[in-house]
Amino acid sequence: MTTETLFHHDAYARDTEAKVLSASPDGVVLDRTIFYAQAGGQPGDTGALRWDGGEMAVANTVKGEAGAILHKPTEGAALPPEGATVRLALDWDRRHRLMRMHTSMHLLCSLIPGAGVTGGQVGLEKSRLDFDLPEPPTKEALTEGLRALVAANHAVSTSWVDEAELDANPGLVRTLSVQPPRGAGVVRLVRIGEEDSPVDLQPCGGTHVRATGEIGTITVTKLENKGKQNRRVYLVLED
Ligand SMILES: [Zn+2]
Repeated sequence: MTTETLFHHDAYARDTEAKVLSASPDGVVLDRTIFYAQAGGQPGDTGALRWDGGEMAVANTVKGEAGAILHKPTEGAALPPEGATVRLALDWDRRHRLMRMHTSMHLLCSLIPGAGVTGGQVGLEKSRLDFDLPEPPTKEALTEGLRALVAANHAVSTSWVDEAELDANPGLVRTLSVQPPRGAGVVRLVRIGEEDSPVDLQPCGGTHVRATGEIGTITVTKLENKGKQNRRVYLVLED
């Protein structure tokens, strides 16, 4: 059972209809979804599924087996019948905040070029990203850099390329701030800024805002040492 990932094509879709492929307390699998499944440090979406005579609150969304996405019910919630058509309603305010946060992480990467990213977590109030970085910039310099990139309102776009195309364009691979995964066949690239001189370009399966101006006021609040070269950078959304 594979779930079509509508959020990969339109991160702004807030509601849609889908068919129930299976339903159990472990999760409801639909033929398609706008709910982002937890991955890459971005939390899964929450919201509700509604059908004739029922409603199920979605507490989290995670990846299941073989391309299925599991919409986790809140404890004791009624489950939709298999084969039913359900209306999906996303908790949009929460998701949009996560999109703003997630996009700001890409901007942070662009300010620390060449440093490997060793971990990260996107949150509603606070996010963090770990860099392999012996000499970190100051939090003031990073905050200033981020705010300038937000003010410039750079466009954010996605494209899909297959591995053969990447191999045929070594220049593109060099431009990428993160190396793409191998073996998936096709890679989703997220570009911030102009086609020929992007601010950031990297493979990513997350959800992003359309333009960096939508991020709002972002501040780097802290840099923490996590091991000899590992630096943890904390970001906070102020509005
Ligand atoms: Zn991303």
